[in-house]
Amino acid sequence: MTHDAQPKASHFIAGDYIEDTEGDPIDVIYSATGETIARLHAATPAIVEKALASAKAAQTDWAAMSGTERGRVLRRAADILRERNRDLSVLETLDTGKPLSETLVADAASGADALEYFGGLAGSLTGEHVQLPGGDFVYTMRRPLGVCVGIGAWNYPTQIACWKAAPALACGNTMVFKPSETTPLCTLKVAEILMEAGAPAGAFNVVQGYGPVGAALTTDARVAKVSLTGSVPTGRKVYAAAAEGIKHVTMELGGKSPILVFDDADVEAAVSGAIVGNFYSSGQICSNGTRVFVQPGIKEAFLKRLTERLGDAVIGDPMDEATTFGPMVSERQLGIVQGYIAKGIEEGARLVTGGRRIDRPGWYLEPTVFADVTDRMTIAREEIFGPVMSVLDFTDEAEGIERANATEFGLAAGVFTRDLARAHRVVGQLDAGSLYINAYNLTPVEAPFGGVKASGVGRENSKEAIHHYSEVRSVYVAVNPAEAPY
Ligand code: NAD
Repeated sequence: MTHDAQPKASHFIAGDYIEDTEGDPIDVIYSATGETIARLHAATPAIVEKALASAKAAQTDWAAMSGTERGRVLRRAADILRERNRDLSVLETLDTGKPLSETLVADAASGADALEYFGGLAGSLTGEHVQLPGGDFVYTMRRPLGVCVGIGAWNYPTQIACWKAAPALACGNTMVFKPSETTPLCTLKVAEILMEAGAPAGAFNVVQGYGPVGAALTTDARVAKVSLTGSVPTGRKVYAAAAEGIKHVTMELGGKSPILVFDDADVEAAVSGAIVGNFYSSGQICSNGTRVFVQPGIKEAFLKRLTERLGDAVIGDPMDEATTFGPMVSERQLGIVQGYIAKGIEEGARLVTGGRRIDRPGWYLEPTVFADVTDRMTIAREEIFGPVMSVLDFTDEAEGIERANATEFGLAAGVFTRDLARAHRVVGQLDAGSLYINAYNLTPVEAPFGGVKASGVGRENSKEAIHHYSEVRSVYVAVNPAEAPY
């Protein structure tokens, strides 16, 4: 079957599609078959300039609208995303290779939640009144930052664009968004839908490109903030470039998150958490719990049920809704993950299941579990970003916490136990931004999301995100005559 996902043009600026074939080609490959389904072009300097100028020109008027009016646009966009969920999900599957069974519930749906949530908040963004002794007072104004740049990773293109656009636009900013060069298609639809919902031309612009286009956006003097979703090495570069211009940042970066499974845990629940936290989206999720620490009393039962249940994964055509496990996003990512599997074997981890490429077109890899993994092994230290789970032994609570925290990352962490006092005690000591008790990898829009340590700066979702897309100004008001010492 041949898929054609060619958009009208590569970029979306000032309310319309625009092309510049001078830019480096970007071929979009459907990872389930290896076929090229679209050809786009990276933004040339002229396109980058147009996008920034359009975002700058639109910002003042957009910010001057009432929050309620801006919110209405976002909520309309949420409705359109939901109405077109199936078409958008098919496109998300073509862009990323994730199975339709996932994209139908996790991508446009999550994007719509963000637009609806921040659309709802937009009308209630206010400053404060602070009374001072003697009658003077201070009031604060919450103001947008200006032009914001969003830069996305390839695993959740629709969701990432919406998680950044929704709070940015709610606060009165405009945005230029650069999707990952691996998955450039979905964000164009988000831009189209925002315009259809009534956002003014220029409020949300999309430019395609590789790293240098992201770098050009980051360093432009018109840009007040950069929000990146990507790896830690890219985060270091983008953060440093933004620092040069004293710009605001949100950094949603990588992880090597731990899950602690205590002896008294519900085995099925712990296995569910570990499966969702390692194999959803073929393991290509930043907050995955890829270091699963299991106490000895439950280890055999855990590994037995895990292996049995992984046998029920339906690996196949992502467009078939029965499929629950799809390919890796790209041949490059497949190669990276295969390299880690080879390292795991070489360094002495025990391969419990999986480990091989699947013999079919596309970039398919078996769900893979290693046991008897030690903290020093490469697979326990580095982010793999694929379907590879490391199971490590641990004896007691203090040791589990110490080893769970012994990493530069701090995105997420989970605890499975029936002892609720212990659950709260343990999560209170784990260094991560998103913590789970008897659950894993759930990201409702109402909850803050983001990392500590090298996993990031700032928070997406929830009311917290408002603080990262606006700033407060204070006005001192004297009601008494001004005084001076002389
Ligand atoms: P990446 O870091 O390679 O690229 C991310 C984006 O940055 C891409 O759009 C890329 O073109 C751009 N980029 C690269 N160099 C740049 C530069 N110098 N200046 C500006 N932009 C530049 O990441 P990836 O491979 O696309 O995605 C996988 C990574 O993303 C993983 O590490 C994963 O953990 C992380 N991730 C984090 C979250 C989160 O919310 N914390 C979510 C998804 C993915």
